[in-house]
Amino acid sequence: MCDRILEKLAILADAAKYDVSCSSSGSDRKNNNQGLGNGHKSGICHAYTADGRCVSLLKILLTNHCIYNCAYCVSRSSNDIKRAAFTVQEVVDLTIQFYRRNYIEGLFLSSGIFRDPDYTMERLVRIAKKLRTEHRFNGYIHLKAIPGASESLLREAGLYADRLSINVEMPTEQSLQLLAPEKKRTDMLHPMKYLSNEITQYQHDKKIFKKTPLFAPAGQSTQMVIGATPENDMQILFMSHYFYQKMQLKRVYYSGYIPISYDNRLPAIGTPVPMIREHRLYQADWLMRFYGFGVEEIVNPDYPLLDMDIDPKLSWALRNLHLFPVDINKADLSLLLRVPGIGVSSAQKIVAARRFHTLHYEHLKKIGISFSTARYFITTKADGFRERDLTPMQIKQQLLTIQRSKYRPNFSPQLQLF
Ligand code: SF4
Repeated sequence: MCDRILEKLAILADAAKYDVSCSSSGSDRKNNNQGLGNGHKSGICHAYTADGRCVSLLKILLTNHCIYNCAYCVSRSSNDIKRAAFTVQEVVDLTIQFYRRNYIEGLFLSSGIFRDPDYTMERLVRIAKKLRTEHRFNGYIHLKAIPGASESLLREAGLYADRLSINVEMPTEQSLQLLAPEKKRTDMLHPMKYLSNEITQYQHDKKIFKKTPLFAPAGQSTQMVIGATPENDMQILFMSHYFYQKMQLKRVYYSGYIPISYDNRLPAIGTPVPMIREHRLYQADWLMRFYGFGVEEIVNPDYPLLDMDIDPKLSWALRNLHLFPVDINKADLSLLLRVPGIGVSSAQKIVAARRFHTLHYEHLKKIGISFSTARYFITTKADGFRERDLTPMQIKQQLLTIQRSKYRPNFSPQLQLF
């Protein structure tokens, strides 16, 4: 590989690390023995950077040149950094070469904005099209759609990419106006709505016509920067709820703001990245998508902030102790899912196992629930034992003590990719 390409790779892979939306879940593109690669449900090899972010092995920007000057972005036009841009063919060649060497299982491609949204989007689409049609590349492709790009380009992108995403960037319009005054919220929301309609149409057609061409089979996602502006968790999660309900988004990603700018509109350089908050938001998001929680159960005007000490499900249970303990041999699945320490697969195993015999605490441990947490919230008539008469604060303190002692001896730094 020539030095110039290597240099571009170093610049544009580094610039791409701020984009966290890189999960490939949801795509199941099959190789029919006529092409290269597969897009499995877990299609991209995931790795974790030192700060805990998930990255794919070929995760790059087409360019870090940008006509805009969003205050929170390292690629903003006023930032004095090394700039680079790949050509369409260079990205195609890199993807194919890396794939053949087994370095990657897919491509995550984002970009700064060269001249205008369509000019940039057209290049992103050409890359995906070349990969699919000229190289018969079946691996996973995630394209970042450019806000403001035309519907015809979005439509074409959907024919070649597994997932499309448009970053909403800020949780509210006011914050976007403050930090990225050149950008319009509608330039993000309109394409999202357009894609949502197209994806719904595709899913409908697919049921009727077997040969319906794929259209963004892994759906669309977005990303919000957290902690750069003063929105509380309630505002953020209600916005996510809106995206899930109205735009049928597959994922909302939360990216804790990394202070990179000397700008009095933003937290000062040196302010810690809000990693715990980001983690709690993901847990809350998980509750909405997989555990049947309504957003207002997790955050509401009485509890606008997530508890940073404990996960949101435990926090909810401690606020609703009157609903517990639940009888593990009788409670329906939706109630089991609300027990702290019981995950989705454990709850399903409990429901399946109790068809054949009465469950005791020993069975639950074998099923794999976190018994040290769940024991405060469950009972079985067979055992007759449960923790009684503890206040929410006492339960919280006891659990925090157990968790701290449990993890301290095992603590080791995460493996680093770079
Ligand atoms: S438009 Fe995108 S790449 Fe350009 S400065 Fe804003 S966030 Fe960064």
